[in-house]
Amino acid sequence: MSTNADERRVLEAVPTGLFIGGTWRAAANGATAKVEDPATGEVLTEVADAAPSDGMDALAAAHSAQPTIAALPPRQRSEILYRAYELLHERADDLALLMTMEMGKPVAEARGEVVYASEFLRWFAEEAVRIDGGYQVAPNGQTRFLTIRQPVGVCVFVTPWNFPLAMGTRKIAPAIAAGCASIIKPAPQTPLTMLAFAQVLADAGLPDGALNVINATDAGGVMEPIIRDGRARKISFTGSTPVGKKLLAQASEKVLRTSLELGGNASFIVLDDADVDAAVEGAMIAKMRNMGEACTAANRFYVQRGVAEEFTAKLAERMGGLKVGRGTEDGVNVGPLIDAKGRDKVTDLVADAVANGASVAIGGQAQDGPGYFYPPTVLTDVPANSRLNHEEIFGPVAPITVVDTEQQALDAANSTEFGLVNYVYTREINRALRIAENLESGMIGLNTGLVSNPAAPFGGVKESGLGREGGRVGIDEFLETKYVAIGYSG
Ligand code: NAP
Repeated sequence: MSTNADERRVLEAVPTGLFIGGTWRAAANGATAKVEDPATGEVLTEVADAAPSDGMDALAAAHSAQPTIAALPPRQRSEILYRAYELLHERADDLALLMTMEMGKPVAEARGEVVYASEFLRWFAEEAVRIDGGYQVAPNGQTRFLTIRQPVGVCVFVTPWNFPLAMGTRKIAPAIAAGCASIIKPAPQTPLTMLAFAQVLADAGLPDGALNVINATDAGGVMEPIIRDGRARKISFTGSTPVGKKLLAQASEKVLRTSLELGGNASFIVLDDADVDAAVEGAMIAKMRNMGEACTAANRFYVQRGVAEEFTAKLAERMGGLKVGRGTEDGVNVGPLIDAKGRDKVTDLVADAVANGASVAIGGQAQDGPGYFYPPTVLTDVPANSRLNHEEIFGPVAPITVVDTEQQALDAANSTEFGLVNYVYTREINRALRIAENLESGMIGLNTGLVSNPAAPFGGVKESGLGREGGRVGIDEFLETKYVAIGYSG
């Protein structure tokens, strides 16, 4: 458990300015924005709140740093990333506490995120020195093709509040590895972790201007001119599908390379032949990681009739045993939701399902303030038309629907415009492969409740996004391929 003194020390150490061109500074108009603790509703601190002119300064700084970062030898870019990886581990306790204070997740989970986020730095430190090209003989033998891979140029990043560090390092690390300068706008609820990380990169030796951090409560007003300017050549966004669509339209003006990691509506399928205990274990991770505030969170449970009763009883028992509280307290498993809007949405979705005929097995009632707490909740007999089968719950609610056949589960899972991830529990290999091939999503958790891994290609299909982050293909999003045709006379 952290003490008040620990919390004060961590808060006093975090920079609160805009980070532009390697310098910390106030917003041009002196504006600041409050950062709140979602467990108490109290203001933790205030950070500089960028005006549009600050955004353009950040763009100019990134643009002038672009040739420097692109010209750094790959080994040097790799070493900066590796040093940042080490620094994240050295500062992990303080970073985790800071993240818990502004975002709410239990400190143990926040520490897990620091490690997860750091692995993007390590992975892309390793990738920086493996960017290759090619030499090819033309089919007619008369020319030669030289293929060069070059940095795409200045990148613009916009990230959400649910994983304040990892959603940033998943973009910043490959950008540095590829030789791209960038500007990042973290979410207004959780700017502190990203500001602390900017200091980590500066301490690791990143050239001035290669990363610029601007917190801006006027997200559209500050980011749209940057996106439409043309000096940035790529945008990578993680957040909701409606905002992603808006940014895709803005990016089209100057035809920016675009990566989108958007919303999900994951199904969690448990078939008759599944190992039910393993499925419950996986469900606890897929549902309860980050209090259910994850794009990968299991949103809809489809359980085959033969195991439905056992699975529901065991899941309800495990969910009911979780301790809810401020994430800094010992033994807490479930922190508050991010804000009143997030908690009220969960309340509304549960009320809608119950009004449609769903039954509450456990939970189902938001806690009174202070803080935005919602208890672990299991709903059964959830009608297909309930809103929570179609919208992201982003909270600790598991709606269970009983199905009779594998095909019913598959059809239900695919009946959404989202396609990020689905989870399946079965012991039969042929069945597993058949379902994996027919589920419409970029990722599938087969007998596991966790798919996120920096070494794997993360991303969605349909309205869940464009492109992949991490894995071997992660760096491709930050590289252009240029080919040189060479005349050859033998
Ligand atoms: P959000 O409302 O879309 O916001 C995401 C970010 O976009 C925030 O920094 C937000 O700032 C900013 N933003 C909003 N409007 C903007 C605009 N017009 N121009 C530029 N930036 C703008 O999403 P959220 O509620 O923070 O995060 C939850 C969503 O993220 C969920 O849908 C979740 O599934 C998704 N997500 C996806 C992944 C993935 O990898 N697929 C990972 C994590 C989260 P403001 O808040 O100031 O508007």
